[in-house]
Amino acid sequence: MNIAFDHMTLSQRVLFGTGKAVEHVTAAVEDLGARRLLLIHGTLNTQVVEAIAERTGVVHLIDEIVQHVPAANVAAATADAVAADADAVISIGGGSSTGLAKAVALRTGIPIIAVPTTFAGSEATDIWGITEGRRKNTGADPCVLPKVVVYDASLTSGLPRALAVASGLNAVAHAVDGLWAPRADPINRAFGTEGLRALVPGLRSLVANPDDIQAREQMLFGAYLAALAFASAGSGLHHKICHTLGGAFNLPHAEMHSILLPYVTDFNAPFARDAENRIVSALGCLSAAAGLNTLRNELGATPSLADIGLRETDIDNAAELALPLVPASNPRPVTLPDLRRIIRAAWAGEPILGAEQ
Ligand code: NAD
Repeated sequence: MNIAFDHMTLSQRVLFGTGKAVEHVTAAVEDLGARRLLLIHGTLNTQVVEAIAERTGVVHLIDEIVQHVPAANVAAATADAVAADADAVISIGGGSSTGLAKAVALRTGIPIIAVPTTFAGSEATDIWGITEGRRKNTGADPCVLPKVVVYDASLTSGLPRALAVASGLNAVAHAVDGLWAPRADPINRAFGTEGLRALVPGLRSLVANPDDIQAREQMLFGAYLAALAFASAGSGLHHKICHTLGGAFNLPHAEMHSILLPYVTDFNAPFARDAENRIVSALGCLSAAAGLNTLRNELGATPSLADIGLRETDIDNAAELALPLVPASNPRPVTLPDLRRIIRAAWAGEPILGAEQ
């Protein structure tokens, strides 16, 4: 088979080491020559936050983090950054903290040092998202790609099991959806496939033993690879539906991804044999969609969109909002009734038929 592609690799420094967040952030700040830091963080990992604030020149702290990055929070955080004359921003937290830092970077141009505490993977992408009203606007801009990412698996220890599972499956969704996304190519498929090979056993080990720090390291590593795949391949059908649901109905991001993925895979995989084979091989199952569904059940993930607050009466509206966003390159043509069926099945948590294990 001939190989031909056009691939863009994003450039950032990645420092990976358990228990080294403070040391690595301090090194990153020195490397960037930053003097006046804005620190955005969730209300977690207080000791690490305080140690970083002490050792770097933090001039302002923001700890009000709201999911899906509302425009009002962006305006307030940007005003804080400008008033404090910040020359870089550190974000410590999940995708919502990283997302707020990205929005500030988009408005001010200051660089980001990202310290992720979930497996959301936003730190590896140049994609920002800001929610205005019921709509989540997204875009890509080089200035929002964190200059440095600091991974410290010990910072994920506080993640409640349900959130760790949902977030891990969110990372799995980056890897899977990247396999058929508009700019899928052999390089990002390789990242996604290797990401799956780390994430699937990592998730199983983490659920079996939450104290297994190596499983958490594997999860962060896999989440990074999966996010690289997503950043380069772009948003596929799964992400387009999730963006719609997240923006219009304010559903929790990671859970929404974990619920929807097997249904989108069930729809696409028969038309994407290479993707099907890669997923099947990583999961050790006979069918990609059924295997993802089994994994989800085995991990005790939330079963349906109804469970996270989508109303049955919202399904038609969600399908209509998602339709114009469907990538033209999706391996299978998508109609409005298809979208209704996918969202309804996920809403009800219908079993996925097919060969399990
Ligand atoms: P989140 O950041 O909203 O965090 C979810 C919850 O977990 C919050 O209550 C948070 O305080 C808590 N939390 C985070 N880390 C914790 C820890 N270590 N211990 C205990 N609690 C912890 O959720 P998320 O799933 O990480 O991120 C979702 C957001 O990220 C969404 O807005 C999504 O759109 C965005 N995202 C963006 C990209 C991108 O490329 N731009 C990629 C993935 C996700």
